[in-house]
Amino acid sequence: MASAFELTILGSSSATPTVNRNTTAQLLNVAERFFLIDCGEATQIQLRKYKIRFQRINHIFISHLHGDHYLGLMGLLSSFHLLGRINPIHIYSPSGLKEIIAIQMNFSGTNLCFETVWHELDTENPKIIFEDKILTVETIILNHRVPCCGFIFREKEREFSINKEQVIFYGVPLTQMVNVKSGQDAVLNDGTIIKNALITRGKQKARSYAFCSDTRFDDRVIQGVKGVDLLYHEATFMHDLLERAKQTYHTTALEAGRVARLAKVWKLIIGHFSARYVDLNPLLAEAKTEFESTFLGEDGAIFNIPEQPFGRN
Ligand SMILES: [Zn+2]
Ligand SMILES: [Zn+2]
Repeated sequence: MASAFELTILGSSSATPTVNRNTTAQLLNVAERFFLIDCGEATQIQLRKYKIRFQRINHIFISHLHGDHYLGLMGLLSSFHLLGRINPIHIYSPSGLKEIIAIQMNFSGTNLCFETVWHELDTENPKIIFEDKILTVETIILNHRVPCCGFIFREKEREFSINKEQVIFYGVPLTQMVNVKSGQDAVLNDGTIIKNALITRGKQKARSYAFCSDTRFDDRVIQGVKGVDLLYHEATFMHDLLERAKQTYHTTALEAGRVARLAKVWKLIIGHFSARYVDLNPLLAEAKTEFESTFLGEDGAIFNIPEQPFGRN
C-alpha cells in the first residue's frame, strides 16, 4: 500500500492574520504519523476546517517565539485537555515556551490531563531532534531576530517495492517477502534462487521535506536544505522591498526562488505573505523567475510527494 507523505498548509500570513489567511501552521502526514509545524493563532480552527483529527498529533515543532508562530498553542493544548486527551504530547521549541504556557495554565488553575514532554532546541547547532522507525527530524540554521530554526523531515531508507505479477509468476512464497523487501534474492521451496531485480521494482526513494520559517536570505540555509524534495521557504515581501526584508530579517519571493534553485530541490512552496498583498500571483511570478517549480502555500493547499520506486531524476 502506498504510504503518505502529505503536507497541508493551515496558515500563510505573516505577523497578523487576514480574512483569508491565518498565521503560520502546517500539518505533515508521513505514513499516518501527524506532525504539527508551528501553531499560529486559531490553528485548532484550521485543523477542524480541513477535517484533520487533531488528537492524532503527537509532536508539535515550533520554529521560534514570535506570536504568529505559536499563539495558537495555548488554545490547542486547552482543547486537548477539555476533550480528554490521553496520549502525551511532545513539544519542540527554543527556550521559553514551557514557561509561557505554564504561567497561563497556572493562572487558569488548569492541570492538564495528559503529559507534555518539552524538548528545548539549540537553534545554533543543527541536529536530529526526533527519530523513529521510518523517519528523522533535524533542525536547520535560520537567520532571524530571535532564536529560530527550521526543520527537515526525512524518511529513512525505504524498502524494495514488490512487483506482484512477477512474484506470482515465479511462485515466490510469502515467507520470502521480508527478505525480498530488504533487497535479498528469493529462495523457492525447491531451492531455486530468483534474483531480487526480477521480482521488485527497485528501492522506494526516501522522501524529504524542509520547513524554513522566518529568515533572511542566508547561504547556510541553502547548505542546510540541499537536495530535499519539497522545500517551504518564507517569502514575506516582493523584491522591491528588499531593504525592508533585510531590516525585519525576512526574505523576498525572488530570494526564496534563489534558495530553491541553488539548493537543487524538487518543488518550492512559498508562504508567510505580508498582509499588504491581496493578490499573491505577483509573488509567485517573481519566485518563478528564479525557480520554475514554485507553488503558493495558501491556506488549505495540499502537497504530496508521491512514492518513487526508481528515484527522481
Ligand atoms: Zn513570522
Ligand atoms: Zn518571526
